[in-house]
Amino acid sequence: MYDWLIVGAGFAGSVLAERLASQRNERVLVIDRRAHIGGNAYDRHNDCGLLIHQYGPHIFHTNSKQVFDYLSQFTDWRSYEHRVLAEVDGQLLPIPINLDTVNKLYALDLTSEELEDWFAVRAEKVDDIRTSEDVVVSKVGRELYEKFFRGYTRKQWGLDPSELDKSVTARVPTRTNRDDRYFGDEYQFMPKCGYTRMFERMLDHPNINIMVQTDYRRVKDAIPHRRLVYTGPIDEFFDYRFGKLPYRSLHFRHVTLDQEWHQPVAVVNYPLTHDYTRVTEYKHLTGQPHPRTALTYEFPSSTGDPYYPVPKAENQELFKKYERLALATPNVWFVGRLATYRYYNMDQIVGQALATFRRINGALPVEGKRKAPSRPSWGDREDRALIPGPV
Ligand code: FAD
Ligand code: UDP
Repeated sequence: MYDWLIVGAGFAGSVLAERLASQRNERVLVIDRRAHIGGNAYDRHNDCGLLIHQYGPHIFHTNSKQVFDYLSQFTDWRSYEHRVLAEVDGQLLPIPINLDTVNKLYALDLTSEELEDWFAVRAEKVDDIRTSEDVVVSKVGRELYEKFFRGYTRKQWGLDPSELDKSVTARVPTRTNRDDRYFGDEYQFMPKCGYTRMFERMLDHPNINIMVQTDYRRVKDAIPHRRLVYTGPIDEFFDYRFGKLPYRSLHFRHVTLDQEWHQPVAVVNYPLTHDYTRVTEYKHLTGQPHPRTALTYEFPSSTGDPYYPVPKAENQELFKKYERLALATPNVWFVGRLATYRYYNMDQIVGQALATFRRINGALPVEGKRKAPSRPSWGDREDRALIPGPV
């Protein structure tokens, strides 16, 4: 009998497994229907030995010291500040839009103050900013919106920005200075030996067993457990009782080139051309020296694995119905991007999982009074291979 069955070995499931096993000394089984741990943050070495991210570029950034300190128990870090260029009108220009973006695009020589006035002249007055279109046109005007945001957003979401909640494009700020970093957070790092290594260390505890290639729906009645943490899609858990929640998917094309570098920065966005949204070159992220280089092209899709909840009022309403059911389901905790239907970054999911652990810890007596097992060293992990489950 497991104290906990945890569905999903991504950030949400792995953080909770680690906390429950190490802090409450409870027995945990983590299952994932994929063939690996790490969820969407899973990375691996390709045939040429280049470290790539199987599900697109994952850059860690946070303002939370608590989250950073927590993860630092399981990894060393490589300092990395993310920079993105967008191909617009035949030029590669900084995104988020900043002083250099406007000066280069229009062959101007504005100062920051002059750019503020330049934006003010073009910005559209929107009384109630509700949509992803409102956010951008009210700051920089329609022309820059159309060049940098409308096409990308339509491709990425299959929806016009006017149909999406403001929170989507609000993720990308507008700047009047020359700061060309994608994120402004205090902590910006990549795990030094990759995400998968970090997950292996997190889950490396004698109280934790792992089964991959194991779908919850197939094993739920066969695995005795007292309580459940569920990090998969919430509508699937309830057999789509109220209908399907929309999730946006992606198809990834992984490519290795027989040349040392392909592009000047880790990510180049294509808002106006091509079927893909962006191209990632991993060596910029990982710092790995290698004579070849690995890229990923992202093609948005309405079919495939669920990657993004779609932030839209009607979807939120449908989610709320499932959430009410979830709250009325005893002994099950719903955590993570798919189960709480929130467009959360990795750090937010870690924060959500740590908060869930605190709630569990406050509410539940510890199961049993077993002697705490000693923690094996990180290096011992190799001989504790993942236990493959039914395919
Ligand atoms: P997931 O990582 O999705 O893990 C859930 C796991 O549950 C999956 O492995 C799934 O296989 C498993 N599962 C689901 N249902 C079942 C079932 N029935 N049975 C068994 N297993 C099941 N965040 C950042 O902070 N920085 C970034 O740069 C960044 N880039 C991203 C790029 C892309 C393309 C995407 C899609 C996301 C990105 N994110 C980024 C977000 C990040 O991936 C998520 O915040 C994080 O991985 C969510 O963790 P999670 O555990 O909630 O979900
Ligand atoms: N976006 C855009 N053009 C860009 C970058 C982003 O229109 O060059 C919009 C798009 O709608 C995207 C959203 O802003 O989905 C959030 O961008 P982010 O880079 O945060 O997306 P993620 O990395 O989560 O896919």
